Amino acid sequence: MAVHTVGFAQCRNFQDRVYKEANCPTLITAAAKCKLKEIMMFTVGIPGALEDVKAVFDDMDTLDPVVWSSMISAYVNCKEEEAALLTFYKMLCQDITPRQFVYSSLFAICGSMSMLEMGRQVHAHSLKNITDNDAAMTNALLTMYSDCGCIDDAWRVFDSNDIVDVISYNSMILALGQHAHPKEAVELFKRMKFSGLIPDEVTLLNLLSAFNHAGLVHEGLHLFNSMLDIEGIKPTYQHYACVIDMLARSGEIEESMKTIKEMPFEAETPLWRIVLGACSKHGDIETGMKIAEMLFEKEPYEPTNYILLGNIYARLGRWTETENIRSLMEKSGIDGDDAFSWIEMGQRTHRFGVDDRAHPISEEIYRNLDRLMGSIKAAGYVPDTSFATHSTGKNRREESLRYHCEKLAFAFGDLASPSGDTLRIMKNLRVCGDCHSAYKYFSLVTGRKIVLRDNHRFHHFYKGACSCRDYW
Ligand SMILES: [Zn+2]
Ligand SMILES: [Zn+2]
Repeated sequence: MAVHTVGFAQCRNFQDRVYKEANCPTLITAAAKCKLKEIMMFTVGIPGALEDVKAVFDDMDTLDPVVWSSMISAYVNCKEEEAALLTFYKMLCQDITPRQFVYSSLFAICGSMSMLEMGRQVHAHSLKNITDNDAAMTNALLTMYSDCGCIDDAWRVFDSNDIVDVISYNSMILALGQHAHPKEAVELFKRMKFSGLIPDEVTLLNLLSAFNHAGLVHEGLHLFNSMLDIEGIKPTYQHYACVIDMLARSGEIEESMKTIKEMPFEAETPLWRIVLGACSKHGDIETGMKIAEMLFEKEPYEPTNYILLGNIYARLGRWTETENIRSLMEKSGIDGDDAFSWIEMGQRTHRFGVDDRAHPISEEIYRNLDRLMGSIKAAGYVPDTSFATHSTGKNRREESLRYHCEKLAFAFGDLASPSGDTLRIMKNLRVCGDCHSAYKYFSLVTGRKIVLRDNHRFHHFYKGACSCRDYW
């Protein structure tokens, strides 16, 4: 990360100089004339420069590790994750040893895409090639394991790290919060202070977030109210947003609205949406409608606002209003958010949408899911139709829940991996309540541990229970 920051700060001047001195119209020609591998580094992250850099790189026919490493960083910065991984593989095939900064980028990719096997391979490779660990690389590794659902591996990286800095503590406290270990997060916070390191804004935000994930409202409020006096840190917008989220999620909708009014910042729409989601969860239709109306005005084409209000009606069984919202969305040409889940298996990522039949072994997956649904129903699972998207008829509502993307991903994982293996599944949106309930039963009837990462946190299912204790 440090490399990119330095590059960014210097690149403008450097680019100007190259343009002027080489008198070339494009960066490609400038790079080719000057043959400066530094250009590759300094162009990292400049919008639009990727194609130029790629053309230079392809022309260079070089085995220079700095150039290859910089090319990978350029792909990462431009969010071309697959191209970055492919370049890494090509690099290895030619026996070129990557530079240290590349590993941090690759760990970040594997974490964000939850590619655990790939992440482990990159980790093993880094152990062979890098003798001096730097803090940035170790922190990226820790976060990669946490993002892939392996909190124990994240702990191992943290504990084996010789250079533990504030960022290491922040990363680990965040990971513990996301994996529902608030007590350990507090212990680590104490350890951090005992070691002489001074917590910063991020430390306190991550700790607050750990309390939020666990529903520890009292502890969260205590930290928030004392952070200025005890830690000397003034709450930022993010701290307020976390506390408002915590209050609303726990059912204290009125208190959360009061905090929004009193805070020294104007609430942004994502925060209002969080409170709207809480109104849906707690059936507060009056406040929910007020917030939804305001959001419709500010963001008339944001589907989540409509979906959340529709969910409030659905949870109260007011199917006519739910249907009205669906029609309004259709008339306005607003598509719902596309939910999808994915699972890494056999060095490949398998992605599923709702009612998706595109997978090559789709028929077997559906058969396995039907079998699993039969087993969990026999074990006591009752479909929660308040999460259904169809309003007409109980059977139709149940049917619309059956092939949600999370369930298809699990059915595939169950089919494709040896029995007893832990399954790690990801979802781009928050897990729906019915799938959460089904997953608890899946873990019970199959004996598997399941780690589900949604866009908010991790759920660890085992023996019929979830680590979040149904609070999310
Ligand atoms: Zn679902
Ligand atoms: Zn859970």
